[in-house]
Amino acid sequence: MDAARTRELEEKVAAGERLTYADGVDLYASDDLAWLGGLAHSVRTAKNGDRVFFNVNRHLNLTNVCAASCAYCSFQRKPGQKDAYTMRVEEAVTLAKAMEPAGITELHIVNGLHPTLPWRYYPRVLRELKAALPGVALKAFTATEVHWFEEISGLSADEILDELIDAGLESLTGGGAEIFDWDVRKQIVDHATGWEDWSRIHRLAHAKGLRTPATMLYGHIEEPRHRVDHVLRLRELQDETGGFTAFIPLRFHNDNNRLSHLEMATPAEALKTFAVSRLLLDNVDHVKCFWVMHGLSTAQLALSFGADDLDGSVVEYKITHDADGYGTPDTMTRDDLLELIRDAGFRPVERNTRYETLREYDGPDPARRDQPQPVWA
Ligand code: SF4
Repeated sequence: MDAARTRELEEKVAAGERLTYADGVDLYASDDLAWLGGLAHSVRTAKNGDRVFFNVNRHLNLTNVCAASCAYCSFQRKPGQKDAYTMRVEEAVTLAKAMEPAGITELHIVNGLHPTLPWRYYPRVLRELKAALPGVALKAFTATEVHWFEEISGLSADEILDELIDAGLESLTGGGAEIFDWDVRKQIVDHATGWEDWSRIHRLAHAKGLRTPATMLYGHIEEPRHRVDHVLRLRELQDETGGFTAFIPLRFHNDNNRLSHLEMATPAEALKTFAVSRLLLDNVDHVKCFWVMHGLSTAQLALSFGADDLDGSVVEYKITHDADGYGTPDTMTRDDLLELIRDAGFRPVERNTRYETLREYDGPDPARRDQPQPVWA
């Protein structure tokens, strides 16, 4: 990028001017990682100061049985296959109850597209979980799952969301987004949910008062221009509904799936993706680094490249963890997260599912430098 174009982009960011598709593509083409990080950090700091948000949550996957076989997925199993499982409602409640002593404020529930489970199972699980854990927010189901519920129930997404909300649903999850560009999507996704249905269902959820996150799976066969397109579609939808709480870039993992021959995105590519996403997505408050998918070292650095949220203290994140040979831990306690955030120079803030502040913590303690610092995985 020549000096004039560099200056033009700096001036646009400084003026808070909306960036274009061409700007996004040019930002990805830059090799100046420190420059990109500096631009994104200025935007992130203007929006969120020195705060880094986290929540205390647990992931629950009711079934790994799935009618689809997405190329990047290491989670799904076919009926009868070794390791295939489906929880009875009582099992899901028992497992969730066992998580209660950790002080969780959210259950994050995503599942395979089970070919024979009846639709009634899903609101029943939510009702029972809500009765057992009334103070815990239920963030459940991707738009892909809601689209699947339409297929298996004959109901509309409108009716499905009404019933799920009545059963205790507080937010959809942001998954199923992958990459919206159809030419890429049709090569990696093996179900019927494209951008039209994904956006239709989130638009509907927002109209019903739910606030939802949105994800992007990057670092597989897509090119940077597809990431730009993905983020700009979300920006346009956010202009319309204002219902997205956070954007979550998810790094593709190459173990145990049909794309295992691909190299994974490097930490530098991950940081660039966080930075450009932060710069383009001017109307979404938060960019989250899901540490399970990036490793703790990259997650700490991402906080200086546009991210301001580290997700939660996850237990048993199977969708990546079935693929993870990189030593990323299964769970972080609240104290682990506080240490990780402070060590990166930020002030931790515990939030709930709607990003309301539950507790503000002190920022970094300079005395920590007196002790040798841990080396994060
Ligand atoms: S990504 Fe989801 S829909 Fe696709 S195969 Fe895996 S579990 Fe099934």
